[in-house]
Amino acid sequence: MQYRNFGKLGVSHSAFGLGCMRFPMKEVDGNSVVDEENAISIIRAAIDGGVDYVDTAYVYSRGQNESVVGRALADGYREKVALATKLPTWNCEKTEDFMRLFEEQLASLNTDHIDFYLVHALNRSAWEKVRDLGVREFLDELKREGRIKYACFSFHDNYDAFEYILNDYDWDMCQIQFNYLDVVGDRPGLRGLELAGKKNIPVVIMEGLLGGKLASVPADVAEIFDEYKEKRTPVEWAFRWLCNFPQVATVLSGMTNLEMTKENLRIFDSIDGSMTDEELKIVERAREAYLARIRVGCTGCKYCMPCPQGVDIPAVFSAWNDGYRFDDISITSNKLSRLEKDEKGVSRCVECGACSAVCPQSIDIPTMLRAAVFDSQKNNG
Ligand code: SF4
Ligand code: SF4
Repeated sequence: MQYRNFGKLGVSHSAFGLGCMRFPMKEVDGNSVVDEENAISIIRAAIDGGVDYVDTAYVYSRGQNESVVGRALADGYREKVALATKLPTWNCEKTEDFMRLFEEQLASLNTDHIDFYLVHALNRSAWEKVRDLGVREFLDELKREGRIKYACFSFHDNYDAFEYILNDYDWDMCQIQFNYLDVVGDRPGLRGLELAGKKNIPVVIMEGLLGGKLASVPADVAEIFDEYKEKRTPVEWAFRWLCNFPQVATVLSGMTNLEMTKENLRIFDSIDGSMTDEELKIVERAREAYLARIRVGCTGCKYCMPCPQGVDIPAVFSAWNDGYRFDDISITSNKLSRLEKDEKGVSRCVECGACSAVCPQSIDIPTMLRAAVFDSQKNNG
């Protein structure tokens, strides 16, 4: 396992950071709950394999995630890792909410301190709201008291908002979405990475596989990867590319089973953080081929859910992209019909716009939902 520098913090942590967002779930008495036994196996296998950075959040797994992580880190595992969790800004309406939520998180995680405490999912307006409620002073106080080691933020907005937030407080770390498709577009991407690097602020990467979309690539992208002399999976290409940037501290990866965890450990054990020009050109060509196919850049994060009308937004977008990814638009139309039968279809949308307002990918969701239906009907006869 490669251990990478965290810029100005003077510490290092594993290149592979354990993202806890995608734990396996199961149905119990009609409720969706974390499959705790499997989740704990994943966490402990990762730590036993050298991972020393664990990332959770108040909101993950419908609010169950931190408690599961807390139980997984019993029996001496807490001492082996840096623990990151996040303050849910959308639950903060008054200054007292910061401490109330933080105390609740410490109790759930069964710990007396958080190593990396992130203000969660900032965009410009969320930052201004919590800043004006005094979150900077709150973070300073927690650091003074040793209840957090580092004050950080995770981010979902454009480059300008990133620059604004990065310069508005003395941050210890930031977490951004970055993958080989994010070189284009208005996200912080490469420019954001360089800006943080100039300030020596370490960057933790999320969505390195775009919600798993870069794990199973279309045939033309696979062919490009296969031209390389050494056989590598698409996941391996994506992670290698990220680790090629010195500003990248840790790459988060969320796993739903033990096999994926073992595979990630294998990949990160083989990464040394240097790619040749030939390898970089292969990724560039893969990017061009991939971007030509995707219809909507939904990562499946579900921040837009639940829709008050019951539309399963990420399922619609996933069906649309899959139709193009696999060159079979009937995949899209069949899935959209099933969603209609299950009363989760696009026809229920009343265009209230609530979903677009919280989408970290800035997708005009109602418009794109209609486009998915129109496209699948047009191209499927
Ligand atoms: S715009 Fe449509 S999909 Fe979005 S929240 Fe409103 S009803 Fe749901
Ligand atoms: S539409 Fe936006 S908020 Fe909803 S799942 Fe996709 S990326 Fe996330």
